[in-house]
Amino acid sequence: MQRASHSPVIMWFRQDLRLEDNPALFEANKRGDLIPIYILDDINSKRDKMGAASRFWLHHALDSLNRSMGGKLKLFSGDPLELLPQIMGMSGAKSVFWNRCYEPWRIARDAKLKRNLDGAGYEVFSTNGSLLWEPWEIKKKDGSAYKVFTPYYKKGCLGAKSPRAPLPPIGNISFSPSCLEGSKLDDLGLLPNVEWYKSLKDRWDISETAALEQLARFTQNGLEGYMERRNFPADLGVSRLSPYLHFGQISSQNVWHIVESAAEQKNEKTRLNIDHFLRELVWREFSYYLLYHYPALPYSNLQERFNEFPWIRVSPELKAWQRGSTGYPLVDAGMRELWQTGYMHNRVRMVVASFLVKNLLVHWKCGADWFWDCLVDADLASNSAGWQWVAGSGADAAPFFRIFNPVTQSEKFDSEGKYILSYVPELTNLPKKYLHAPWLAPKPILDAAGIVLGLDYPNPIVDLKSSRSRALSAFQEQRARSARSQ
Ligand SMILES: Cc1cc2nc3c(=O)[nH]c(=O)nc-3n(C[C@H](O)[C@H](O)[C@H](O)COP(=O)(O)OP(=O)(O)OC[C@H]3O[C@@H](n4cnc5c(N)ncnc54)[C@H](O)[C@@H]3O)c2cc1C
Repeated sequence: MQRASHSPVIMWFRQDLRLEDNPALFEANKRGDLIPIYILDDINSKRDKMGAASRFWLHHALDSLNRSMGGKLKLFSGDPLELLPQIMGMSGAKSVFWNRCYEPWRIARDAKLKRNLDGAGYEVFSTNGSLLWEPWEIKKKDGSAYKVFTPYYKKGCLGAKSPRAPLPPIGNISFSPSCLEGSKLDDLGLLPNVEWYKSLKDRWDISETAALEQLARFTQNGLEGYMERRNFPADLGVSRLSPYLHFGQISSQNVWHIVESAAEQKNEKTRLNIDHFLRELVWREFSYYLLYHYPALPYSNLQERFNEFPWIRVSPELKAWQRGSTGYPLVDAGMRELWQTGYMHNRVRMVVASFLVKNLLVHWKCGADWFWDCLVDADLASNSAGWQWVAGSGADAAPFFRIFNPVTQSEKFDSEGKYILSYVPELTNLPKKYLHAPWLAPKPILDAAGIVLGLDYPNPIVDLKSSRSRALSAFQEQRARSARSQ
């Protein structure tokens, strides 16, 4: 292939750690011989430094990307505002290519970086490598941003042009011989120094190939019945693509089109499942959309009236919740799944979040921070939007008075206790009937199961009925206060 440039071209990988369907890489590869780089840049972010599980994932994702490029990836750590001009200067590159990121601090930083590089005579090419629609493309008729998901989805997204088709395979990449000295992967210090992350390693195959295989498996076996099965945490009825999507090891465009094309061979019922799955993918878009239009989403209640809500920030119950020892088996199973695997099923995320912010009256930000540290798919947009949705303080949120009951949720979505027992084995000998609420089991049954409540498994840390009333009264009072102040 005739290359347009004789100078090397910098391909700056960010949240797009893949070779296939990577628009910036695709364009960069047409332009000239590549120097692929990655800059660990969260050092600049005071508030959104990556959590431990994300750092673990990133370590392996970078390792895998580097291998797929024959060891050519150059790693750096620091401020791209300083580093990138130096890299350009030292390598003799005249152009740099990247896919956009949408965290507010990255948007501001990238705008400045682009001005600086433009000013210094470099060519900067930035494009969309991770969203189906750019957040500024979807607007209401009057030009304002949507706040509610359904009209955003139905009028905004479905009325817009279809997500772009995946790019053709990248084929050969020609690398520039480079004198740049990057860091060693281990020197980035991404792996936590506690042993905990080793259990995560056994659970995940962290590579672009694994992402594509996971999607193929899901398209083959998971789409059928997705609508129903996605609610049952013991069922493998969801795609588990979220960490791959977050780190860009697979593109949302690719997922969209591969799933869409599966519809062509399937019946009407499967079509409904496919539409439902694509709709979930659009929830991810909506989260990014909210983050773009309301950059305070990760830090402040979008509904300001919640600023007066008496949420607690320091409480012993927060610790019990984090450890998975609340005495509510579904909540505990969820929190332990998170700790052991870096993932938690969506329904259980909603249940544990509701339990924290409503039954325990702990501020949603405390829950969001814990998720941020523990989730391998921790994502500023989806995590913040998810927590504000559950707390009732978000743009399009579940009403505060809708409080998930962890016992009825458990009976409904884990009736056999399969999910609970995977993470709360101390309840193994308890008859199924009591698995969802062990404190209701008569003493002889607990004795026969070898369980002493408070010793082998916790007593409930809070009473569901009274904590629900406490939350509802706090909500009523807050509502009355904000009505008075208007
Ligand atoms: C309190 C709370 C916190 C959350 N934090 C995160 C987070 O940090 N990162 C994250 O990726 N998701 C987050 N979610 C959304 C959702 O739980 C996960 O995206 C989903 O569980 C991932 O599993 P999956 O890939 O198997 O999903 P699937 O059901 O297979 O869905 C496919 C994809 O659609 C997207 N998606 C599905 N549901 C949602 C949703 N409700 N919001 C946004 N995107 C969605 C994800 O990218 C997901 O990978 C959170 C939800 C809640 C309630």
